[in-house]
Amino acid sequence: MTSRRRAFNHPLTLTHADLARHLRSASARHASGPGDPELRVKRIRDMANGEICNVSALSMSVHTGTHMDAPLHFLAGGRTMDKMPLEAIIGPARVIEIKDRESIKPEELQRHKIQPGERILFKTRNSRTAWKADAFEENFVYISQQAARYLAARRIRTVGVDYLSVGGFKRDMVETHRALLGRASGSSKA
Ligand SMILES: [Zn+2]
Repeated sequence: MTSRRRAFNHPLTLTHADLARHLRSASARHASGPGDPELRVKRIRDMANGEICNVSALSMSVHTGTHMDAPLHFLAGGRTMDKMPLEAIIGPARVIEIKDRESIKPEELQRHKIQPGERILFKTRNSRTAWKADAFEENFVYISQQAARYLAARRIRTVGVDYLSVGGFKRDMVETHRALLGRASGSSKA
């Protein structure tokens, strides 16, 4: 345990927070659009039926619930998830609370003096409201394309949002993804 912690270069006093959400089929089904397959978990071997063990089969889109986007998601020929550095999502992160109820904009980010190499997690009104609904929330707070370009230019390491997509459902979906994933497909150093 100690050596594993040391490998990730964590001080032992650091508090760890697991940010993963439970999978629920409504959010899963609409994760990247209404055409996404539904989350299915099926017991295919069952000790209750006299079998020697229990085994389940799982079927879902990789865009289900808590997930990471690989550059390939929006960039043809982009890097796949297995090529992404694990350090991007393990280590200290800064939570920035966003007041804007529509989208994350550069004007609101400026005063936070975002530095190269930072892991930034945005806390918006989504955290309080969007996850409670059974249906997919179309009006979630998203990263505007201007803010996505602003973040990419600051060469941050990681950006995390508190709902199912970095780009908006009706606006800035493609532009925001391309700005952030274009950054991710370049150097992995920052
Ligand atoms: Zn996405």
